[in-house]
Amino acid sequence: MEKVEYLIVGNGIAGLSAAREIRNNDNDGSILMVSSEPYLTYYRLKLTEYLYKEFEDEELLVNKESWYREKNIKVLLSKIVEKLDLDNNRVVLDDGVEIEYEKLLLATGSRPFIPPVAGKFKQGVLALRTLKDLRYIKGYFSECKDVTVVGGGLLGLEAAWALKNLGKNVTIIEFAPYLLPKQLDEETSQKLKEKLIREGFNLYLSSSAEEILGENTANGIRLNDGQEIKTDGVLFSVGIRPNIDIVRDTNIEIDKGILVNDNLRTNIDNVYAAGDAVETDGMIIGLWSSGNEQGKIAGANMTGKPMEYTGPKLFTNLQIGNIKLFSVGNIKDFDNVYEYEDREKEIHHKLFTTDGKLTGGILFGDIKNMGKLKNGVNEKVSIDSYLKEEPLFKLVMNSI
Ligand SMILES: Cc1cc2nc3c(=O)[nH]c(=O)nc-3n(C[C@H](O)[C@H](O)[C@H](O)COP(=O)(O)OP(=O)(O)OC[C@H]3O[C@@H](n4cnc5c(N)ncnc54)[C@H](O)[C@@H]3O)c2cc1C
Repeated sequence: MEKVEYLIVGNGIAGLSAAREIRNNDNDGSILMVSSEPYLTYYRLKLTEYLYKEFEDEELLVNKESWYREKNIKVLLSKIVEKLDLDNNRVVLDDGVEIEYEKLLLATGSRPFIPPVAGKFKQGVLALRTLKDLRYIKGYFSECKDVTVVGGGLLGLEAAWALKNLGKNVTIIEFAPYLLPKQLDEETSQKLKEKLIREGFNLYLSSSAEEILGENTANGIRLNDGQEIKTDGVLFSVGIRPNIDIVRDTNIEIDKGILVNDNLRTNIDNVYAAGDAVETDGMIIGLWSSGNEQGKIAGANMTGKPMEYTGPKLFTNLQIGNIKLFSVGNIKDFDNVYEYEDREKEIHHKLFTTDGKLTGGILFGDIKNMGKLKNGVNEKVSIDSYLKEEPLFKLVMNSI
């Protein structure tokens, strides 16, 4: 039986980042990554943009094969870890092979959630998660004229934009009354909506897909208010569910995702978890940057170098055509709002403060200051000092 010091299940960014950090701290320990996908780690977050670009698989890889050889990191592709035997520190693969480990990292990621809509198993009802999905979707949509994206979040809007670039007539269906409700206030969201409509998108807000129409193949969608939309294909982008099936019949604690402490260790001493599969503070974060950071922290702790995870630093950056927006921090709870607007140039910036500190911000139209705003919010700088460098902002809303 193969024995390794560090076994990593999943070779997404969380798994890769852990492997990299383990090797930084431990020159000799054997590292094995097992992935059910047939590719070395690739930039999953770039899949949307490749909906409208031609590409070779190689282009999407984070590291070439030679990097793994140089770092002495072994990768087993197209193999599923089917069973965890925690008592004996072993896993069993789908071909029956057993592997023994000293430390185990679960970086199994997530999969798209498709809600229980009638007709969801019809041909042409799709979701994008993997490079294989991308190839299939590109092929399928090449024959489609009208396509619908269900879900007007960040990924949904990016996908809608990519499909528009392919010359499709694109409809977006969003359950919430306005787009990006977590990242934008209603006023900015309204501006985003107007821009999208001007770009030619068909938008249905406060709407949900009730039924996918068509015999075996999707040819329309019935909405909750009874309206029917003609469509040749449907792309769902309404969220993710962590891949936690392999831990369900073990003693590893789970809720929505795998539960971990600040060191990203599970309740089992030598088992760690990172990335989309993990729940922290009751949340599944589902972001590339968090997977990268968590992988690094888990990897360090696995080698005995203590590192703590302090929670995600959430921000959103949407750049589709000439629509540009950036949002950071808390834009829902605040004391004061400061604004700068240039209507002619369609620029609108907002700063949100709590107790005199910068706690959230939105940049719409011109996002070149996003780095500065992000640092200001993450460091909770005083609004007075921020305004010294940004004198054009005016106080528009004062809660006191
Ligand atoms: C289209 C798209 C666009 C995105 N855009 C952005 C963006 O703009 N910004 C951003 O921050 N995030 C974005 N994300 C999210 C980001 O890509 C993910 O948060 C990140 O890739 C998660 O990394 P991970 O390593 O946790 O999991 P994953 O990347 O999901 O990797 C997990 C791997 O483990 C494998 N696996 C699972 N179970 C097993 C098993 N039992 N045995 C073997 N292998 C297994 C899976 O097949 C998969 O290969 C996007 C995601 C998608 C799909």
